[in-house]
Amino acid sequence: MQIKDRLYIGGQWVAPASTDTLTVVSPSTEAAIATIPAGTREDADRAVRAARGAFEAWSTTPPAQRADFLRRIHEGLKARQDEIARDIATEVGMPLKMASRIQANLPILSFGLYAKLAGEYAFEEQVGNSLVMREPVGVVAAITPWNYPLHQIAAKVAAALAAGCTVVLKPSEVAPLNAFILAEIVDQAGVPAGVFNLVTGLGPVVGEALAGHPEVDMVSFTGSTRAGKRVAELGGALVKRVSLELGGKSASVVLDDADLATAVKATLNSCFLNSGQTCNALTRLLVPRTRYAEAATLAAEGSKAFTPGDPLTDAGRIGPLVTSAQRERVRGFIRKGVEEGAALLAGGAEPPAGLAQGWYMQPTVFGNVKAEMTIAQEEIFGPVLSIIPYDTEAEAIRIANGTVYGLAAAVWSGDEARAQAVAKRMRAGQVEVNGGAFNIQAPFGGFKQSGRGRELGKYGLEEFLEFRSLQLKPAA
Ligand code: NAD
Repeated sequence: MQIKDRLYIGGQWVAPASTDTLTVVSPSTEAAIATIPAGTREDADRAVRAARGAFEAWSTTPPAQRADFLRRIHEGLKARQDEIARDIATEVGMPLKMASRIQANLPILSFGLYAKLAGEYAFEEQVGNSLVMREPVGVVAAITPWNYPLHQIAAKVAAALAAGCTVVLKPSEVAPLNAFILAEIVDQAGVPAGVFNLVTGLGPVVGEALAGHPEVDMVSFTGSTRAGKRVAELGGALVKRVSLELGGKSASVVLDDADLATAVKATLNSCFLNSGQTCNALTRLLVPRTRYAEAATLAAEGSKAFTPGDPLTDAGRIGPLVTSAQRERVRGFIRKGVEEGAALLAGGAEPPAGLAQGWYMQPTVFGNVKAEMTIAQEEIFGPVLSIIPYDTEAEAIRIANGTVYGLAAAVWSGDEARAQAVAKRMRAGQVEVNGGAFNIQAPFGGFKQSGRGRELGKYGLEEFLEFRSLQLKPAA
């Protein structure tokens, strides 16, 4: 049992304003694994003041020096990669080997990337008689979810610090242990007091206090569309910059000339990764009606390889869902799919046999799904794939774009030019073309209700910058 009873504010581990705590529970054993402070509005305010106090010095620190601090954090994360992977496998439930490769490694890469970008980025340019400068936006509140907890934190914190902003982080109360490790590393890296602050607690308490705080200049939020709307409301009322990375219902569009087996396999990998708890998961498989039967068989058979099992021993390819409530939500969607007439091809709402403890689910595949069904429209956030047959390419594009979301998509075709042409018609922030890989240098973010703003790469740095122009008088 880990007991975390301090918050990191103003360069010190301080006692929270209240002695209330929140319990972190393992989704595989259902046992309590840690307690953390239930931060309050007062703690949030104290952290914002610390960040405000540190802003002037940090924002005027030369970018190359900021890069040095980021490099030290990158090294610190590398040194603790195994511990981070184990903590995240324990609190989120992703199998350990995969947690090391994805959950612990991506933050290392992000801090490395932003150390490099801080040193290279052109913060100033001359345009006619103007010196156009890109200035840090100010104090940033970073509010993050549990599914890729440290990756989402790093995408915000590394970019914001590189830009010259100071940060108050409010991590997910469901998977917060990794955030404490980051705070320890930041502290050991000698980052000046107040530049990075950590306040744990509940969204409606600490999250809302930060989003509505007059001294916070920008809120960078990743999470559900529901909470994102609330954050936008609070931030909007004070004309803050608000960036939102929200949900998705991403389509994998298989064109009639594609290698079906490859496309189905990759779609299953994406859909079931992290037990389906991935914002850009490909959860809708769109196939030509003429190839539907073949696709249905491939997907139903392929899903069986995703056996659930204990994440810490890598006993299965998927771990449990993160909380009991999350699993009940997913089971509700599966029942709804059956009620609305979709064909249950594999899995189902019942927990898998032989796993009495832990919030495990069977990987589930629905066939003959209609585009307007609930399971084809709403983000399920569990291991559930919907196969939707279509008749024409135009219809496939219409269905792919036909949800309130627009985070990601995939297109498969034997003809690369055709695949790219269809990819360009997707109203989604990232489109995988014939299995193209995730790239942290490319912008990540959504259209429509998947959010606004972009993370990662130099685009993620620019989110935290504001333009200023100095109009210069030409030399006589
Ligand atoms: P969530 O919205 O419940 O919580 C996210 C964060 O917001 C947490 O820190 C939470 O405490 C806080 N929060 C909750 N209510 C709040 C409020 N009223 N005001 C301020 N903060 C509040 O989401 P979650 O369950 O942690 O994560 C799952 C969701 O995140 C899914 O919808 C998923 O698609 C989305 N997500 C999006 C991306 C992306 O990059 N687009 C990435 C990962 C997850």
